[in-house]
Amino acid sequence: MRPCRTALVYSPLFGNFNFGDDHPFKLQRNRLAYDLMGAYGLLDLPNMQIRDCQQASEELLLTFHDAAYIARLKEFSSSEEPRADFRFGLGDADCPVFKGVYDYAALGAGATCEAVRLVVEEGVDIAFNMNGGWHHAHRSRASGFSYLNDAVVAINWLIARGRRVLYLDIDAHHGDGVQEAFYDTDQVLTISLHESGIYFYPGTGFEDEIGEGRGKGYSVNVPLLAHTDDAMYMKAFDEVAYPLIAAFNPDIIVTQIGADTFRTDPLTNLEITTHSYGEMLSKIKRLKIPWVALGGGGYDLMNTARAWTLAWAIMNGIKLNPRLPPAFIDKIELLGYRNRVLMDAMHWADEGERVLALGAVEKSIARIKKTIFPGILGSYGAPSS
Ligand SMILES: [Zn+2]
Repeated sequence: MRPCRTALVYSPLFGNFNFGDDHPFKLQRNRLAYDLMGAYGLLDLPNMQIRDCQQASEELLLTFHDAAYIARLKEFSSSEEPRADFRFGLGDADCPVFKGVYDYAALGAGATCEAVRLVVEEGVDIAFNMNGGWHHAHRSRASGFSYLNDAVVAINWLIARGRRVLYLDIDAHHGDGVQEAFYDTDQVLTISLHESGIYFYPGTGFEDEIGEGRGKGYSVNVPLLAHTDDAMYMKAFDEVAYPLIAAFNPDIIVTQIGADTFRTDPLTNLEITTHSYGEMLSKIKRLKIPWVALGGGGYDLMNTARAWTLAWAIMNGIKLNPRLPPAFIDKIELLGYRNRVLMDAMHWADEGERVLALGAVEKSIARIKKTIFPGILGSYGAPSS
């Protein structure tokens, strides 16, 4: 059997940009993840390659984005002065305008397009772009740290080549921009597991958002309450996402694997660890479907580095020592981190909070099985049980 071929799309240029010292999104996390992968020997494996990337062309960006929005983003990007245009979501606290913001966003989109191209045109089985997954970018509006929607642009490229695509989003936030782009098509099945929009940004992603027209039944949302832990998250994945992926049997899977679901993330309230995160990714890998993974959120830098290193190891079929490499520990100690382990033990939320969150997830699953499952499992054949 041919060994699994993987590609890490990585550009050191991402380190040249900065959202500002007070902004929770820190581009240093890419470097930290890259260094941890290196410390584990994961950047020098026989069947992997590291590929650089270019900015996505305007032609590709315009398959989703509005021309006036792109023009304004470009104009602001070249200015030294902080600028704002709230019609386009530019210049607020979440989406600051900094010099080179267009180059930064177009490079992220280019990295995702390159990951997809490697899989489609060069026979790579799994490609990973840590600096992608900007799922809140809308057609003509920046939102939630996202300026250009790399996943949508790359999926548009796939659709133009006749591919059926499964988009799975396990970031703590609803993948609203991606859902919106494919809400009326059955060519893309979007599945998002996220903290509930009842109280949490971006305020969407409820079970009754199931798509419209030809796309009815092809948007799937599992909102989760605060304190959802490893076991509950796995339940949602096993009972909703996994059977739908298997039944839809796409030509390619695009996943947004944000690490802001983790228990100590400063912006979110879910209680996930490497335990369920790794389990989910292992299950996706076992499907043996061409796979493109995008980084997404993650605001505790060491969690993010640990999560994506684990993800890259799983993609390459490597089992890692659960203790961090000593040389890496020495290095991060100088930066003030006290982490010692890569793998967390499975985590259980406090009993009272668990009961509430579990009740909510069970209700959501039951609803989705009623509204979504008959269509997808019916049209593509339910796995016999
Ligand atoms: Zn997020």
